[in-house]
Amino acid sequence: MAAPPSTRRETFLSFQPPAIGEQEVAAVADTLRSGWLTTGPRAAELERRFAEYVGARHALAVTSGTAALHLALVALGVGPGDEVITTPITWPATANVVVHTGARPVFADVRDSDLNIDPDEVARLVGRRTKAILPVHLAGQPADLDPLLELGPPVVEDAAHAVEAAYRGRKIGAISEATCFSLYATKNVAAGEGGLITTNSDALARAVDDHRIMRRGSGSRYDIAVPGYKANLSDVLASIALCQLDKLERHRDIRLRHVAAYDAAVAELDGIEPLARDPRDTHALHLYVVRIDPERAGATRDEYQRALAEEMIGTSIHFLPVHELTAYRERYPEQPPLPVAERAGREVLSLPLSPAHTDADVADAIAALRRVHDRFAGGS
Ligand SMILES: *Cc1c(COP(=O)(O)O)cnc(C)c1O
Repeated sequence: MAAPPSTRRETFLSFQPPAIGEQEVAAVADTLRSGWLTTGPRAAELERRFAEYVGARHALAVTSGTAALHLALVALGVGPGDEVITTPITWPATANVVVHTGARPVFADVRDSDLNIDPDEVARLVGRRTKAILPVHLAGQPADLDPLLELGPPVVEDAAHAVEAAYRGRKIGAISEATCFSLYATKNVAAGEGGLITTNSDALARAVDDHRIMRRGSGSRYDIAVPGYKANLSDVLASIALCQLDKLERHRDIRLRHVAAYDAAVAELDGIEPLARDPRDTHALHLYVVRIDPERAGATRDEYQRALAEEMIGTSIHFLPVHELTAYRERYPEQPPLPVAERAGREVLSLPLSPAHTDADVADAIAALRRVHDRFAGGS
């Protein structure tokens, strides 16, 4: 192996900058000139195109991925006294929305290979109160859906990382009762903020629609069927999301190249291993997560993250186990240990991955990782 370059970057490499260009700028300007600031024709077009993209009957645009998850649970009738089984290795929003409904999040431990929810653990936890199962497709690797779907309770997918993903040839977004996507600034379709719920159920789509906005209707009188929320997506954001949908394949080609470069590099670094990607599935390549084994890699994840920051390389952590965060420790003190998730929470590190990065940026990140590894692991 050639000696890695010994110089660090002059400018900091952001972990996940959005890939926004002139097309998005022009689309926003057009939308503002159109006079539609709130939900209008762009949001409707986004829903049409996204439903077609995933092959679902309905797509409903909302203000965030969090709102998408919350409204999907509300539409399913999840409420006080119910339980929703979910994964601890996720952004806290996945569990928070369960709390918002008045139900209780029940955490099932994850699989060591890809850190997705373990269907055997879920099967052990399903009971009379289980109202839904809420898996996350971590990093873009689909969770093992078939055994979850067989358990009985409706499955709601957190597909915030999984726009392009397919599970055993079936596109994510058209498989379970409801699938929830995020349009947050770092996600594969980045509008800044926003979310989408896809479903094949007319009843669920209607229930989500009833809750996401109160319609004024026509005439001098108006009425509401339910005391709903306010979670409709603005056309300004929808117009950005539409541009990002146009670029999805081009962006995927860049992600594929960067992931291949990382795979080749970490294969030579003892104690640094990427999460498993199942060749039977299509991975959305949203994150490149490695696990750092402190014994073999010579230092902890936190030490690697600090050393990479000194090398001007931004990284992130996906995720700390939700049940170990203060709000959850205080709320559910009787939570049993989840050993696989807890170990993973100390070992995971996400390397820079974005279609806004150049090949040279990724080469810089790899060179920095090699230098840090040489230092900590003694040049193995
Ligand atoms: C980003 C994210 C969310 C929340 O999406 P927002 O659009 O930020 O509300 C939920 N779950 C996971 C796994 C995420 O990464």
